[in-house]
Formats: sequence, C-alpha cells, structure tokens
Amino acid sequence: MTLWIGLTGGIGSGKSQTAAEFAKLSVPHIDADALSRSLSAEGGAALPPIRAAFGDGVFDSQGRLDRAALRDEVFRRPESKKKLEDIMLPLILAAVKTQQQAYSAARYGILDVPLLIEQPAFAALTDRILVVDVDEATQIRRTAERSGLGEGEIKRIIAAQSPRRRRLLAADDVIANCGTLAQLGEKVRRLHGFYREL
Ligand code: ADP
Repeated sequence: MTLWIGLTGGIGSGKSQTAAEFAKLSVPHIDADALSRSLSAEGGAALPPIRAAFGDGVFDSQGRLDRAALRDEVFRRPESKKKLEDIMLPLILAAVKTQQQAYSAARYGILDVPLLIEQPAFAALTDRILVVDVDEATQIRRTAERSGLGEGEIKRIIAAQSPRRRRLLAADDVIANCGTLAQLGEKVRRLHGFYREL
C-alpha cells in the first residue's frame, strides 16, 4: 500500500520548492491546487455548480470563470466562501482519490494541499503530515520576491491561514526551510530515505 505524505505550509514557506525536490527523486506528486484549478478551467466540472450558486457575475463575456471576481466575492462574504468550498471540496477529493489509485504501486507519494490542516477531509487521505516551516519575516520576504505582493496583502493572507503553531502541532515531520535551497534539497533526500523505509 502506498504511504501518502500530506505536504503543507503557509504561503511562501517553500511547499512548491519542497514538492519539486521530491519530484527530482521521482516521487509521485498530487497537487490539490492544480486539480482545483483544472476543475474550474474551461470545461471543468466545477463551472456549472459555480454558475448556479454565484450567477453570471463571476464569469466573463467569453463564459470563462472570472477568478478575481470570485475571489473578491469570497473575501467579502463568509457564506460565499462556505458555498464555494462545498462545491469544490467533494470534486477535489474525488480527483485526488482517482490519482492516488493511479499511483497505487508506489511506496509513497506526496499529496500537496495548502489547506491540509484547515480541511480534515484531506488529512484523512494522508498517513503522515509534513509541514514546511519558516519564520514569518522569511515567509513575507520570499512571498514578496516571488509574487510582488505588498507586505500588507501578504500579512492578510497569512492571517487567513492556520496559525504557524497549529500547523506545527499537527505535523508528524517538519522541514525547517530557513536555510539555503541546497540545504532544503538535503533535508528532502533525508526524508526520502526515511519514508521509503516506513
Ligand atoms: P509556497 O509554495 O509554500 O508558497 P514556494 O516554494 O513557492 O512557497 O517558495 C516561495 C519562494 O521562496 C520561491 O520563490 C522559492 O523559490 C523561494 N524559496 C523557497 N525555499 C527557499 C530557500 N530555502 N532558499 C531560498 N529561496 C527559497
């Protein structure tokens, strides 16, 4: 049976970089965010229920989802956030399970879910939780360099995510990603050896 490692961390903690390091070692990788985006891309299964719930106002004139309008709606109204999650969550979970079945011959795989701690339904699809952790100053600096977002906006996103302490409490394994990229690669290779033996 394949062991599934749930990979999570706050914005800018280095989740994507960590996932890329595991991918270099040919470890199967399921990206819940990418699945979510493809479900809401053109022709995606999430579009009809999103239109039914939020109306034409969150679609552009070509019939494509207007992600900025939807994000705005969800930020402004907690009930809209819940409504969108109720649409997306079962679809993403089903897509994750399908991919997990496709990798059933692997020893272990990485399930990359930014909101793993917030959404226990994802945690239920994993056997261990790996948290990528950095101090907040590093998190803000790396996110700003990568995305160009301002400090205020980044802090708002951080505040909407699980607190660092809560994530660490849920972790079975932690990568402290305060060092160099080479050090991150080394930590991933060490964990790779550990996970292969579990
Ligand atoms: P996340 O996916 O958690 O939001 P990323 O993996 O995209 O975060 O990392 C955020 C930014 O920080 C990226 O530009 C990434 O290349 C950089 N980064 C990640 N880890 C390190 C590191 N150890 N040293 C330097 N830069 C890093």
